[in-house]
Amino acid sequence: MIIVMKARASTAQVSAVVKRIESMGYRAHLSQGEETAIIGVVGDDRPIDHSQFELLDGVERTMPVLKPFKLASRDMHPADSLIPLNGNKVGAPEVVIIAGPCSVESRSQILETAHAVKEAGATALRGGAFKPRTSPYSFQGMGEEGLALLAEARQATGLPVVTEAMSPEQVPLVAKYADVIQIGARNMQNYYLLNAAGESGATVLLKRGMMSTIEELLMSAEYILAKGNTQVMLCERGIRTFEKYTRNTTDINAVPVLKQLTHLPVILDPSHSTGKWEYVSAIAKAGVAAGADGIIVEVHPNPTEALSDGAQSLKPEKFAQLVRDIRRVAEAVGRQ
Ligand code: PEP
Ligand code: MN
Repeated sequence: MIIVMKARASTAQVSAVVKRIESMGYRAHLSQGEETAIIGVVGDDRPIDHSQFELLDGVERTMPVLKPFKLASRDMHPADSLIPLNGNKVGAPEVVIIAGPCSVESRSQILETAHAVKEAGATALRGGAFKPRTSPYSFQGMGEEGLALLAEARQATGLPVVTEAMSPEQVPLVAKYADVIQIGARNMQNYYLLNAAGESGATVLLKRGMMSTIEELLMSAEYILAKGNTQVMLCERGIRTFEKYTRNTTDINAVPVLKQLTHLPVILDPSHSTGKWEYVSAIAKAGVAAGADGIIVEVHPNPTEALSDGAQSLKPEKFAQLVRDIRRVAEAVGRQ
């Protein structure tokens, strides 16, 4: 951190700041200019609450120098992290495609969808058993029965399973059935859940909160990484804006921004970010063109009867066409 003193700060005020820095175990680097003094704190000062210094007499403002996220940062880990998924490595040149229904609804629905997405070329199967619904009266998911059906679909197709855990208590249960634990947008800042997912050691797909900044997403990833779990993928799933023609606004910028800031793989969710199946394909392709390491798409054999998110779900034939299109976009941008 850099501390900028007020123009007329006294020598005594400058020394008091230097003393304070040293009393906390850091070195202070004083640069006395003609009008003002600037003091650099030498060392990793991220644990310090900067506002403590802003309250000291003679201090004008403080400026952080280090990024607040350490383990997620490319500064610490310049090479891309590669996360194994079904013989692929997420983050490697091959773009991964995770597909399936919003919710597991029945044995026939999940098996039919799993076979269809596998046939079309999906890397992994998605499907929620515990659903974070806005209304308590909406379908809440099949719970453990849904997890068992996902495991059966994996057995039948060989596709690894991505499914959500909503509370720390659910993590061991979900980890028992799933290959990847999803942390949903509404739970991105549920720090107990992040800690539990970190402790589980399972691969985690962390979705960006609909009202969270990129930095907040990275700070949430930092919780999982800080527990020693390096198997983390990030997901841009759209943010809330004033625009009403789509459910959310795809923050396509987040893809290259995240790829620059972090070594963790980035997945784009064009289903939740648009909310309408008509736009899913265009935005999925845009995500791959922008550098996403994969996409996660909702697919339902009969969207008009889906118990959740039917409006944004692709029918299997549309999904198969999307996979063909993505292949061409991937090749065009040097991916596979
Ligand atoms: C989902 O993946 O079905 C879901 C609920 O996503 P999000 O948390 O991004 O809203
Ligand atoms: Mn959904």
